[in-house]
Amino acid sequence: MTPLALVLAVALAASLTLCAWLWLRGGRRVPTAPAVLAPPPLADPFAPLHHPLFQSAATGLDAGLIVVDQAREVQLVNRQAEELLTLAPHATGQGLIMLLRDHQADALVAEVLSDGEPRETAMKPIATGRTLRLRCTALAPSGQIIGALLLIRDITQLSMLERSRRDLVANVSHELRTPLASLKLLVETLQSEPPPDVARRMLGQMAQEVDAVTQLVDELHELSQIESGRVTLKLTPAPLRPVVERALERIKPQADRKQIAIAAEYLDDATCALMDGDRVGQVLLNLLHNAVKFSSAGGTITVRTSLRNANGETSHEEAGQAGGLWLQVSVSDTGIGIPAQELPRIFERFYKVDRARTRNAGGTGLGLAIAKHLVEGHGGRLWADSVEGRGSTFSFTLPAA
Ligand code: ADP
Repeated sequence: MTPLALVLAVALAASLTLCAWLWLRGGRRVPTAPAVLAPPPLADPFAPLHHPLFQSAATGLDAGLIVVDQAREVQLVNRQAEELLTLAPHATGQGLIMLLRDHQADALVAEVLSDGEPRETAMKPIATGRTLRLRCTALAPSGQIIGALLLIRDITQLSMLERSRRDLVANVSHELRTPLASLKLLVETLQSEPPPDVARRMLGQMAQEVDAVTQLVDELHELSQIESGRVTLKLTPAPLRPVVERALERIKPQADRKQIAIAAEYLDDATCALMDGDRVGQVLLNLLHNAVKFSSAGGTITVRTSLRNANGETSHEEAGQAGGLWLQVSVSDTGIGIPAQELPRIFERFYKVDRARTRNAGGTGLGLAIAKHLVEGHGGRLWADSVEGRGSTFSFTLPAA
């Protein structure tokens, strides 16, 4: 071995020994990877909300979105929330209560922020009168609640449907209770075997009550058919005059019985409407029936047919100019009239003006609701003008053919 080789061999042996000693001294530990440092906490945990991707996702939502921090300060509001709450743009930075203007909803968000449990509530902003459902969930990206997310949806239509369903059940049971109670009373009296003439009178009253219940059930059925779109109108061009004359013939016996005169003023014999003659006759009969019912002896009912356009002109030439040509039918009476504040409501299902006033007149309060649906099914309009104590005029339009 040359001296150089000897030196190299000694140096190699020494370095191996040193390595072995160092390794043994290290307690056979697996060399650890260099330590990964935890990212420093974000200065603003809501900064990602301003990322363009998040912003466009928030705008694409079909609900209002609001994000608040622990202090209920608003960090994000999307466009839908601005619309639903009628906010000025850029409402961030304000306290949530300034946006919601509803202490109950604000308190609900505070509860979610304190215990992390999601909650829901409904609110009705005064500015719009709409019903909003607000769902609030806590934001806790690393286990600790740092804020809350509010989703807002417009449920006005849904709550109106719900209310009308509840009203319907309440109204039907109310309308049924009266005839059923009186039927029960009459049956009990008959069971006690009253004199034959009294029994006969009572049977007559029972027949009337049964008629009232039958009418209610029929009209309810009719209304539900119309509202669910199961009634199809057979629209054909047909002259209006024969339809009016037929309805007048049918109402005449009732009018005569109450000594009420009937007058008719026709536009002409030939003008046609695009209509379902039977259904228009039904509307007319309902209006005439009411006119007789709410007029006292000696009154007059007048039926008029005329031509109208959107501007209300009446001659053929003027009416034709503005396009859409309409035939108008009006039924005027000299009866008890309708107070101005009640007028907008008389077309609602079951609505009766002052029940005490109309109790003896009978009726379900469904007739005008049905009539309105039928007229609107023709594309026309049904409305009422009235002066309390002086009389009423019900008018409807049909497209001229
Ligand atoms: P009803 O079966 O009670 O007649 P309607 O829907 O036809 O139901 O009418 C609703 C309410 O509108 C009536 O109960 C009545 O209070 C009022 N009304 C309708 N027509 C007249 C009229 N010609 N004169 C006065 N009040 C009327």
